[in-house]
Amino acid sequence: MRLILLGPPGAGKGTQAKHIVDRYSIPQLSTGDMLREAVAAGTETGKRAKAVMDEGKLVSDEIVNAIVSERLDRDDCANGFILDGYPRTLEQADALEAMLADKGMELNCVLELEVDDDAMVDRVAGRFTCGRCGEGYHDPNKMPRVADKCDRCGATGSFVRRADDNAQTMRTRLRAYYKETAPLVGYYHAKGKLKQVDGMGNIDEVAGAVGAVLEAAS
Ligand code: AMP
Repeated sequence: MRLILLGPPGAGKGTQAKHIVDRYSIPQLSTGDMLREAVAAGTETGKRAKAVMDEGKLVSDEIVNAIVSERLDRDDCANGFILDGYPRTLEQADALEAMLADKGMELNCVLELEVDDDAMVDRVAGRFTCGRCGEGYHDPNKMPRVADKCDRCGATGSFVRRADDNAQTMRTRLRAYYKETAPLVGYYHAKGKLKQVDGMGNIDEVAGAVGAVLEAAS
């Protein structure tokens, strides 16, 4: 299964990707996560990307295309992958197409999570994760059962919030989405790859709808 998840920040791409990882045993390739790792590790790429990410703007196509191409060559992508947050521009979509042709791979499906923007600002402004195991939380919708303690791994004092998850940066990220990324919906529709799922239900409802679409596409 080779899949792209499309949708604005906060649509639930990362959450749904985790369900798909479990079901199909394929890796989730999140360019946002890869860039945050590069920033944390202080690499040259990380240094170039940090200021742009903090503002909510897009990192250059050249940087992200290179990290994705390298990542697709790893063994764990042999049976498929989920691209989460990539491609984000038409240039990246063209670069991905060339990359996949070069590697002898073909996309099965591009899945768009359709959501309501105002709800996205609230979702993103409230989200936080456990820095140890990655479990996701939301204030006030999904608080840990014991204050400051992760329900999944039991770590205390480990919760982290992304620097760009605030209402102001979120508006810049939404603008970037509609200007740069939304045209990909038409791009993949024209290629006959696009499937759309209502992303406004609860996590399990959306996962059910996503699962049904993927079964039909595989
Ligand atoms: P995300 O975790 O997908 O919300 O990405 C966080 C930030 O990383 C974005 O706001 C961008 O600054 C940067 N980023 C992630 N993926 C891409 C991409 N495909 N192209 C450009 N910038 C990206």
